[in-house]
Amino acid sequence: MIDGHTQMVGLIGWPVEHSLSPAMHNAVFDALGLNWRYVPLPVPPGHVEAAVHGLAALGFRGANVTVPHKQAVRQMLNSVGPSAGQLGAVNTIVIGRDEDGSARLRGHNTDATGFVGALREGGYEPEGGGRAVVVGAGGAARAVIFGLLWSGSGEIVALNRTPQRAEVLVSDLRDFSDRGFRLHALVLTAETLVESARAADLLVNATTVGMWPHAESSIWPESVPVPRHLTVFDLVYNPLETKLLRQTRESGAHSIDGLGMLVRQGAIAFEMWTGEPAPADVMRSACERALVSTCKLG
Ligand code: NAP
Repeated sequence: MIDGHTQMVGLIGWPVEHSLSPAMHNAVFDALGLNWRYVPLPVPPGHVEAAVHGLAALGFRGANVTVPHKQAVRQMLNSVGPSAGQLGAVNTIVIGRDEDGSARLRGHNTDATGFVGALREGGYEPEGGGRAVVVGAGGAARAVIFGLLWSGSGEIVALNRTPQRAEVLVSDLRDFSDRGFRLHALVLTAETLVESARAADLLVNATTVGMWPHAESSIWPESVPVPRHLTVFDLVYNPLETKLLRQTRESGAHSIDGLGMLVRQGAIAFEMWTGEPAPADVMRSACERALVSTCKLG
């Protein structure tokens, strides 16, 4: 029940209607008996400043931020945490209050921590110095490479369809680690992907390829089996088993789905807002139920 004591959080983005976050967070609020609600907040491009000031004025406790506002939102905050500063993108806002009641907005980025946590949970230890191939050069790939660098990964190859974008990403991130000299960019082709993956321990798909409703697409070519020694992490979680993860399973390699990263990030945000430990199992089950209904709708 929503009443005068209900604490509000939400998701700022455009679009937001397919997000799993409302189902994930509201399930935990219910499970823990917390009088909190999480609402999707569709904010068109150009309106993010008004939206963030509105959140503070309306007494929201915080928000998640998604595409296309992760960079723009930075200017409306009082401070940012280290990852958000280094990545230049905010995906979680925590709103506190000064003694006089004025709002203090702090931005965080939980993408890299969420990725590394899910990677470890999936049985891959990045600090072992293994070699990684990351496909994609958008915000998600940036966070993945940042997380791998910080956690002690060995050589990282960034492959992208538009090579200039991968080159910019590599040059931006090189300074963040003494291992930065092991970061290289290549154009994504079937040949560069297969060749790089054969020499790697971890392959991460950080592109949108394979995402519903284009679930029959994969970055991996049909004719080549996925190397059995490889761990394959697909950030796409809708569908839960993407075509890439099906190819991985069929060739006997180890796979990690994208839902673990979403849940990890959700759990970090939940704990920042409420101060309560987040039950990841409740969050994951809520996401799986929401995914089934999304796919049915599709
Ligand atoms: P983005 O900034 O829009 O980047 C999209 C990337 O996909 C670019 O590198 C783009 O290459 C590439 N791409 C798109 N279509 C392609 C195609 N047909 N062939 C090859 N490459 C293609 O998106 P993002 O924010 O980084 O997100 C990427 C994916 O990660 C999304 O599916 C998102 O849902 C997922 N994600 C998951 C989590 C999680 O918690 N599991 C968290 C964040 C993101 P170009 O540069 O050449 O256009």
